[in-house]
Amino acid sequence: MKKMGIVGFGAAAIGFLQGLIESKKIDDYEIVVFERGKDHAHNTISGVRMDGKIFVSRGMGGELDIPFEVQYKIVELYLSHSGYRPTLKERIDPIEYLKSFEKDGKKIEFGESFADDETYRKFYDHGFEPIKAYFFHLGTDVLKDTNNNLFEHFSSFKNVHFVFDTIVEDVELGSKHKVITNKGEFVFDELVVAVGRSGHRLMDRIKEKYPQLVRENYYVDIGVRYELPNHVMEEFFDMYEVKVRYKTRTGYMCRLFCQNPAGKVTLEKYEDFTTVNGYSDTHHKTQNTNFAVLVTTRFTEPFKDPTGYGKNLAKLANILAGDREKVILQTYGDFKEYRRTKRLGRVQPTLHEDSFILGDANLVFPSKIRESLVDFIDNLDRVIRGVAYFDNLLYAVEVKFYSNKFCNDVVEHLHVIGDCSGWTRSIQYATSMGYIRALRL
Ligand SMILES: Cc1cc2nc3c(=O)[nH]c(=O)nc-3n(C[C@H](O)[C@H](O)[C@H](O)COP(=O)(O)OP(=O)(O)OC[C@H]3O[C@@H](n4cnc5c(N)ncnc54)[C@H](O)[C@@H]3O)c2cc1C
Repeated sequence: MKKMGIVGFGAAAIGFLQGLIESKKIDDYEIVVFERGKDHAHNTISGVRMDGKIFVSRGMGGELDIPFEVQYKIVELYLSHSGYRPTLKERIDPIEYLKSFEKDGKKIEFGESFADDETYRKFYDHGFEPIKAYFFHLGTDVLKDTNNNLFEHFSSFKNVHFVFDTIVEDVELGSKHKVITNKGEFVFDELVVAVGRSGHRLMDRIKEKYPQLVRENYYVDIGVRYELPNHVMEEFFDMYEVKVRYKTRTGYMCRLFCQNPAGKVTLEKYEDFTTVNGYSDTHHKTQNTNFAVLVTTRFTEPFKDPTGYGKNLAKLANILAGDREKVILQTYGDFKEYRRTKRLGRVQPTLHEDSFILGDANLVFPSKIRESLVDFIDNLDRVIRGVAYFDNLLYAVEVKFYSNKFCNDVVEHLHVIGDCSGWTRSIQYATSMGYIRALRL
């Protein structure tokens, strides 16, 4: 039997183990799963201990192309291990089948963005690409069962051994791969690294030792956090998320995402600069909705530092705001007219006044980014009347950095999967990536 080491027991590892079971390759290996969490009962499977929304979408959750058939399978895996059972016998329409799952007489909570054809068409006809997504909400209360059941499911295989309370500190890659933990060293024929975002220390170590495993990143998303009155966006509140992409007249792709109905704008502080973000607080509703409008900026050789580019624009906004921990706030009307904002209109900011300065974001954005933002917002106003009101607010700068991606075809018998690979950022995509990788073994 070959020896396999799996580092981390989260969503990606769950997918990988399930893939091994379904392909029957599991019998070929003696498997050790290292997990730094104390034990499975203490909710250590961080991927599934969260809110537990499992999405089905081709456009959100990761930068991989995951076939719908795999995504349905993953939803079913989580539902069935959470105690839900199908009430439909036949799986003619996979979404209807999954929607039929219930537990103790209660249907699984389900949501769909752009469910209404007319809304979809409205966006589509104005050049937007609406990102469709379905979600199944397991709910925090059942997640403990999900963890337990999945753990029982995998540990029922005699050749699968879980080692909890163990931190993998380093790996040494070779003809066999060595795993160095705080409790000793182990050697494997096959190594799976699935440590999620919380495993960044180990990933930094691997990147430093094996830079050939890391793919060059050429992208950064730069733009603003946009804030407007709730009533403008109200008709979309029952949609999980209004997420659309649009190719602007500059040729740059611009996107709307991370919508927070009745939410708040907040600062995102980094070591040496500050950007903006948004959130919704279930207890404190506000009069405003906020969302990100970001332009995807791609660079080509010889420039190789998109992250530095984004950081420097954010820093410039902080410099103009007169403080490393302040951002620029401007009305959309003033932004369009190249005027510094001196007075606000009908929309009051939800970000605390100590955190911003009224200014002119035109001094920050290169014109190609600025033109893309204006084109996007003006065009969106044709679909959602009121988005381009002169006194709506924009906060600069919002930046989304792309994480470095790991190549899985450089070192033999090594599989870096899930969020730590840089390719995924959701339970669905992390689990699916693991699942597909195992099928290809
Ligand atoms: C607050 C919050 C809420 C979220 N809600 C959702 C949601 O509703 N829906 C959704 O799709 N996504 C959600 N996500 C994202 C989702 O949790 C991740 O995308 C997903 O879990 C990634 O799976 P993974 O296997 O890559 O990592 P994880 O699931 O994080 O698993 C990694 C595992 O590795 C272990 N580990 C880390 N380092 C080491 C080490 N050195 N040695 C040994 N073990 C180690 C960790 O303890 C962990 O158990 C949420 C994330 C957060 C933070």
